[in-house]
Amino acid sequence: MLLNQRSGTALAIETAARCLEDASPKEIVRWALETYAPRIVLACSFGGATGIAALDVALKLDRTTPVYYLDTGLLFPETYALVERIAAVYGIDPVPVRPAASVAEQAAVFGPELWKRDPDACCSLRKLEPQSDFLAGYDAWITGIRRDQTEWRSDAPVVQWDAKFDLVKVNPFARWDEAKVWAYVRFHNLPYNALHDAGYPSLGCAPCTRPIAAGEDVRAGRWPGFGKTECGLHR
Ligand code: SF4
Repeated sequence: MLLNQRSGTALAIETAARCLEDASPKEIVRWALETYAPRIVLACSFGGATGIAALDVALKLDRTTPVYYLDTGLLFPETYALVERIAAVYGIDPVPVRPAASVAEQAAVFGPELWKRDPDACCSLRKLEPQSDFLAGYDAWITGIRRDQTEWRSDAPVVQWDAKFDLVKVNPFARWDEAKVWAYVRFHNLPYNALHDAGYPSLGCAPCTRPIAAGEDVRAGRWPGFGKTECGLHR
C-alpha cells in the first residue's frame, strides 16, 4: 500500500473511532459491516461471554458474517461443545483455524508440553501464526476484547488499525465491563461455555487455564505460574 493511501486509511480509522466511541456495540458492528463486508470476519474464542455477545450482535445484523475460532487442538471439551451449539442455534459454520502442526508434531520438534516451558512460543505456533495466515484474506476483524480485561487492553479504541495482522480491528464491546456483558448474555438467553458456571470466567487452552477463587481477577486463571496475561493476539 502506498504511503499516502496508508495515511488516509489511518486518518479514516481514527475518525471512525472518535465518532463511534459512544456508540452501542450494535451501532459499531453495523458500521463495520457496512464498511467492510464481505471482507470482514468475527473472531470468537467460545471461551468468554463477550465473544458470544459480539457474535450475537453481528449475526443478528447479518447472518452471513463469517465466524472463526482458533482451534489449537487443546481446547476444553466444553468449548468444542459450545461451538457445535452455537452453530446449531444460529445456523452457521464457524471456521476452525488450526496450526500447521498437530500437538504431537509440535512435541516431536519442540519437546512435549511446550506450554509448560515457553507459552509465548507455543501461542505463537498455535495461535498467532495461524491467525496471521487466516486474516490475510480480510480487511477487518471484529473482536470481543474489553478495556477492563487486561492492562494491554485498557486503552483499546472501538476501531483501530491492527499493525500486527495488517487490517482494521473492531472492538464493539471495548467500553463494556464483565457485568454488563453478562447482563446482555442472560437477557438474550444466549448459549455460553458451561465451564463459566464452574469457576472459569475466561477460557483458553485447557493446559493453560485453571478455575479462579472468589475475589480473584477474572483472568487470573490464564497461564497460571507465568506473568503472561495475553496470548499475543491483542498486543
Ligand atoms: Fe499453547 Fe497454552 Fe498458548 Fe494454548 S494457551 S497455544 S496451550 S501456550
